[in-house]
Amino acid sequence: MLTVNAVAATSATGPLVRTTVERRDLGPRDILIEIRYAGICHSDIHTVRGEWGDVAYPLTVGHEIVGLVAEVGPEVSRHAVGDRVGVGCMVNSCRECANCRAGQEQYCENGNTGTYGSIDRDGTVTQGGYSTHIVVDEDFVLRVPESIPYEAAAPLLCAGITTYSPLAHWKAGPGRKVAVVGLGGLGHLAVKIAVAMGAEVTVLSQTLGKKDDGLAFGAQSYHATGDTATFEALRNSFDLIVNTVSAPIDIAAYLRLLRLDGTLVSVGAPPEPLPVPVFALFGNRRSFAGSSIGGIAETQEMLDFCAERGIAPEVEVIGADEVDEAYERVLRSDVRYRFVIDIDTLR
Ligand SMILES: [Zn+2]
Ligand SMILES: [Zn+2]
Repeated sequence: MLTVNAVAATSATGPLVRTTVERRDLGPRDILIEIRYAGICHSDIHTVRGEWGDVAYPLTVGHEIVGLVAEVGPEVSRHAVGDRVGVGCMVNSCRECANCRAGQEQYCENGNTGTYGSIDRDGTVTQGGYSTHIVVDEDFVLRVPESIPYEAAAPLLCAGITTYSPLAHWKAGPGRKVAVVGLGGLGHLAVKIAVAMGAEVTVLSQTLGKKDDGLAFGAQSYHATGDTATFEALRNSFDLIVNTVSAPIDIAAYLRLLRLDGTLVSVGAPPEPLPVPVFALFGNRRSFAGSSIGGIAETQEMLDFCAERGIAPEVEVIGADEVDEAYERVLRSDVRYRFVIDIDTLR
C-alpha cells in the first residue's frame, strides 16, 4: 500500500481538508500515476455535497486526471514509465457484457467502476484525482499527446469526452447545424469540438455576456435564451442541440428549434425530472436523448482529435487550498471555463 497526499470531503457541508489516501499495491496490469493536474467537474460538487446519493466520507473526488507514469506492473504493455497519461470518469468495468465488448464501457451492463465513490474490485471505495498519485488498470489509462498543454488536457477527460461523444454519435460535421445550450465548462468545449468537426455552430446562452468568447471559440452565431424572440427566430433550425445546462430548461421550447429528424441531447443533469410534451416530438420527427461520457477507445480518439486540431479548454489553474472557493465560483458560473488544480501544491 502507498499512502499519498490528497484533499477530501469529510461531510456534505464542511470544507475540504488535506489528508492522505491509500493506493493499492501494483497488480500485474496496474499503473502508478504521479498526478500533475486534476480538473474540477460540477459532478465533484454534486457528489461531495450528497446531492447524487449517499457518500462514504471521507471521499476524494476528481475524475479529470493527467500525470506521468511512475511505475508499471509486470504485465503492463500499453504504457511505459515517463509517459504522459490521463484517467477520466471510470477505472474499470466488467469487460464481458455486450456493451463492454462493443467498447462502450461507460454503459457496462454490470455498472462501470467510477474513478471516485465506487466500490472497487477489492471492496474499497475508489478515491479520485485530487491527490498526488493513483493506481489504475492500464486498460483505463489514456495516452495524452504532447501537443496538448498539460494543465489544459485535464478537463478533456470528462468535459471533453462528454461533449465529443454525442457530437460524434449524432454526426456533427459539414452541412449540419448544431446548437450548444450553455457556455460553461462543457459548453465551451462542445463549441470548439463541433466547430472542428465542421458543423455550423450556434450558442444559446441566457445572456449575451459571453458572446465575444463564443464567437472566438468558432461559433457562427450567439443568441440569448432570456429573449423569447430567439425561440421564434430559430424555429426548425438545428439538426442537433447539445444541452449542457444542469438547471431545468423548457424542453418544448428547445425541441421546436429542431428541424426534420433533429435531436436534443442532454449532457447536463438537472436534479428534477423534466416534463417532455410529446406533441413537440411529433413535429419534424424529433428525438430527446441523453448521453454519458464515452468509452475508452472513443476517449483516446477524442484526445488525438483535440491534439491534431489544436483544441484545448480554457483553464484557470489553482492550488489545492483553493478548491472550496473554486466550488463556490463554479456554482455562480464565475469561471472561464474550467478550474484545474495544480497537484504540485499537494506534495
Ligand atoms: Zn465530470
Ligand atoms: Zn460490462
